[in-house]
Amino acid sequence: MEILLVGAGLSGAVIGRRLAEAGHRCRIIDARDHVGGNCFTERDADTGVMVHVYGPHIFHTDDAEVWEYVNGFSDFMPFQNRVKSTTQGAVYSLPVNLLTINQFFGKTMRPDEARAFIAAQADTSIADPQNFEEQALRLVGPALYEAFFKGYTEKQWGCSPTELPASILKRLPLRFNYDDNYFFHRFQGMPTDGYTPMIAAILDHPNITVELGTAYAPDMAGAADHVFWSGPLDGFFGYDLGRLGYRTLDFERFTHDGDYQGCAVMNYGDRDVPWTRITEHKHFSPWESPPGSVCYREYSRACGPDDIPYYPIRLVEEKALLGDYVARAEKTRGVTFVGRLGTYRYLDMDVTIREALDTADLFLDRAAGGGDMPAFAR
Ligand SMILES: Cc1cc2nc3c(=O)[nH]c(=O)nc-3n(C[C@H](O)[C@H](O)[C@H](O)COP(=O)(O)OP(=O)(O)OC[C@H]3O[C@@H](n4cnc5c(N)ncnc54)[C@H](O)[C@@H]3O)c2cc1C
Repeated sequence: MEILLVGAGLSGAVIGRRLAEAGHRCRIIDARDHVGGNCFTERDADTGVMVHVYGPHIFHTDDAEVWEYVNGFSDFMPFQNRVKSTTQGAVYSLPVNLLTINQFFGKTMRPDEARAFIAAQADTSIADPQNFEEQALRLVGPALYEAFFKGYTEKQWGCSPTELPASILKRLPLRFNYDDNYFFHRFQGMPTDGYTPMIAAILDHPNITVELGTAYAPDMAGAADHVFWSGPLDGFFGYDLGRLGYRTLDFERFTHDGDYQGCAVMNYGDRDVPWTRITEHKHFSPWESPPGSVCYREYSRACGPDDIPYYPIRLVEEKALLGDYVARAEKTRGVTFVGRLGTYRYLDMDVTIREALDTADLFLDRAAGGGDMPAFAR
């Protein structure tokens, strides 16, 4: 079959590869002038630093098949994300762990002592938390909430934590040991030469053609037996019911001679510091040692029509509009909506790959059995 895939990010590349290997011809288009979608990395010409152009990306997964899959297309170097936070005039370790708690309160507590101490800080007068702020106060108490959660959340989401659902903090967001590895997953690493060569290798198959700088036009679908759409769900319908809300990011790039901050990611918890974090890209490749440095100061704000959509908001209003677009999509034949934009969800890379592999397998099954492919495969 002739397959059109819109988007040369991980979703389009992984689905395209699987279908190409099964003998289908895949035309993959992307409006951008590069492959890789938001995982795109490139080496800075002046400093030689590998830059994560659309923000820092750390690969982590518990899915052994996905880990094997990515290792089939790139070498990986070990990498664990160890985030720091500057707040209230001091630097702490994140996620909030025993070191953070002891330093913040000036104590030398062991795990059980810290648990009891935090339990005493928690605001037990809040029996049924109605929002993020109440939930955080009930779980960690006012001091840690103010320092590590309140300001950062306000900057990230552009609203008061009282307007966010309590469900964001499902359980106690603290560790009572000295583990500062940001992710819990068994497999973690960084592709040795960045994500772009890895995704280019996935796309490197005789049955795949890639057209960059090519935005989707409706007449392209006519030539295809099926379309996989990894662009924005509302964008497929020309945004005619309104736009699904996103947060966008502004990256203020600056260079530094030497080591700017000594770590890859430094969060800023104080409300009066306008940026949420600074990333220093060379620390994502600790096996390289370029003398210069490239950093991004990161700001979060509401996404306008000409901005890059990063984080779906998914509050009550957005979910209602999402329902309307999903209903439209389900009535559209011959198109499957995939990936973070096509399904309007935040998806880590490993989940994106898992869903892409499963989507491609479902397509191959349906094609073999004569059944229709649904609008959403998950
Ligand atoms: C700031 C940030 C940090 C992240 N960090 C991590 C991390 O540390 N670890 C992790 O596992 N995941 C991380 N992620 C998630 C990761 O970026 C996604 O899993 C991944 O990008 C999803 O791939 P995708 O192909 O679905 O979407 P995308 O990468 O967005 O690709 C979609 C592509 O479609 C193209 N497109 C859209 N509309 C059209 C159109 N009309 N015509 C033609 N082309 C079109 C776009 O140009 C884009 O290239 C992060 C995400 C963000 C926002």
